Amino acid sequence: MSELASPTTAALDADVIVVGAGMSGLYALKVLRERGLRVIVLEKAPAVGGTWYWNRYPGARCDVPSLEYSFGFDPELEQEWVWTEHFATQAEIERYLNHVADRYDLRRDIRLSCGITAATWDADTNTWVFDTETGEQLRSRFAIMATGGLSVPHRPDWPGIDSFAGTIVQTSLWPEEGVELEGKRIGIVGTGSSGVQSIPELAKVAEHLTVFQRTAMFTWPSQNRPLTHEEQAAVKATYRDLREKQYHSYAAAAGTSGAVIFAVPTDDRKIKESTPEEREAALAEHGFSASRIWADTATDLDANAMAVELFNEMVRRTVDDPEVADSLCPKDYPIGCKRPVLDAGYFETFNRDNVTLVDLRKDAVVEVTPTGIRTEHGFAEIDVLVLATGFDAMTGALTRIDVRGEGDHLMRDDWADGPRTYLGISVDGYPNMFMCVGPSSPAVLANYPPQIELQVGWIRDFLLHLGEHGITRAAVEPAAQEAWCEHVADVAKDTMFMADSCNSWYIGANIEGKPRVFLAYAGGLVAYMERCNDVAAHGYEGYALS
Ligand code: NAP
Repeated sequence: MSELASPTTAALDADVIVVGAGMSGLYALKVLRERGLRVIVLEKAPAVGGTWYWNRYPGARCDVPSLEYSFGFDPELEQEWVWTEHFATQAEIERYLNHVADRYDLRRDIRLSCGITAATWDADTNTWVFDTETGEQLRSRFAIMATGGLSVPHRPDWPGIDSFAGTIVQTSLWPEEGVELEGKRIGIVGTGSSGVQSIPELAKVAEHLTVFQRTAMFTWPSQNRPLTHEEQAAVKATYRDLREKQYHSYAAAAGTSGAVIFAVPTDDRKIKESTPEEREAALAEHGFSASRIWADTATDLDANAMAVELFNEMVRRTVDDPEVADSLCPKDYPIGCKRPVLDAGYFETFNRDNVTLVDLRKDAVVEVTPTGIRTEHGFAEIDVLVLATGFDAMTGALTRIDVRGEGDHLMRDDWADGPRTYLGISVDGYPNMFMCVGPSSPAVLANYPPQIELQVGWIRDFLLHLGEHGITRAAVEPAAQEAWCEHVADVAKDTMFMADSCNSWYIGANIEGKPRVFLAYAGGLVAYMERCNDVAAHGYEGYALS
């Protein structure tokens, strides 16, 4: 791909530097290298896998079915890989991604334990310069930021937290060698997906588990199960059809289970038109899922409140202690505002003798001491403190490093009022830089592997187009970016994501000072790719190419 390397071939370490060796970084390396581009991947972790390397806490597993949460680019790969459960564990997905790295000989172009501290646009040569944590400097024509949407852990800044003398561990930085948990007094903070998955597992091994909950969570039984040979063979016999469905669906999902399809009602009936008897029958038939079947709960807050009541009725029927049940009932925000969570025996865990719930809305944290957590009304002695407290999502990875574009602008300053992107892929003022599953793309609202294949495929085709036409600079036109940002906000505005009572990481509400901006594209994968493909078909309109 000599056109891409000109005119500074000698000084370039690669045509493309990809930051991150998670799912999108691995796929980018594969497809760009096979089209003749020289690619280097820089990865902070000592291993490949991204999210699936870092999040190895007890109970960690994917909430999208394994046969769907996998790459479809190579029919041989999808036939040879054997999944063992409907929802795969972290360990199995990590093994899968390592298999992908080996099968396509990717490791030779990946530098591990090599995070970057800065990426700087050099306008004189139309290149990006990367400073690494190892003190190296590398230069490429193009930058692909495959840095992940949920890769920067968020930690509470409670008084005394650094004085804690026991083991303190973040779910998203769980050590490879594991944590001694057996027979310990464990405290866990946070009841999002990570907390909800960990809590039943921690309760099984702890002498005592204290759960510190700030906001009660909507979580539905995952119905996980081992995959039978017959079930897997049936999917593999028609895998191409499944992939086609994924690529042409709202959430890159073909099936009927998993967290990403929760926004899709399974029923034509409206809860507002239902009788108490019909709602009771729904509870008897669907249990917790009775709260998510109705056609009118996604956009009508009154209907949504009725669905919340069905959910909370199930909590009360499941949890023995009425006071604990009451604390576990989500009350002040709608279903669909936050990422749906799938669990395995979450509410039942609070019936165990060795589990205590501390409702931080009634009993706030005062301080962490060397031996535990003091709240307004009590003190919990703790040996191991687990923080399942989430992430600086979608933008954190790029605003924490010095990404310096044209005119010496820093991305974190440009994004002080929220991320501004074109198609969730490019940013005005940062030429030749592309993001994978970045802010204002479907990202967390769609199944990752198929979405990555489509989006990275689009970036690959763009890079080949630039090479074929001898173009060394691709910059976003400000008006195109403004129009995309307006469209993204418009699509989200009438959804539960933006309800006044909704405070989720989708809108940055979990990070103090972060602007309240919806961080993904809610129009669905099909509409998104149509727009991207339209841009390409019109000669990459919205980009100034030179
Ligand atoms: P999260 O959804 O942001 O949950 C963080 C939890 O920590 C919330 O309960 C939050 O309470 C609590 N918290 C944060 N700061 C706190 C503080 N200072 N004091 C008390 N509580 C505090 O994070 P997550 O559980 O890691 O999940 C993030 C996303 O990762 C998910 O939404 C999902 O997209 C992905 N994920 C997926 C899977 C899967 O595939 N199964 C598993 C794990 C994660 P508030 O609600 O009050 O802020």
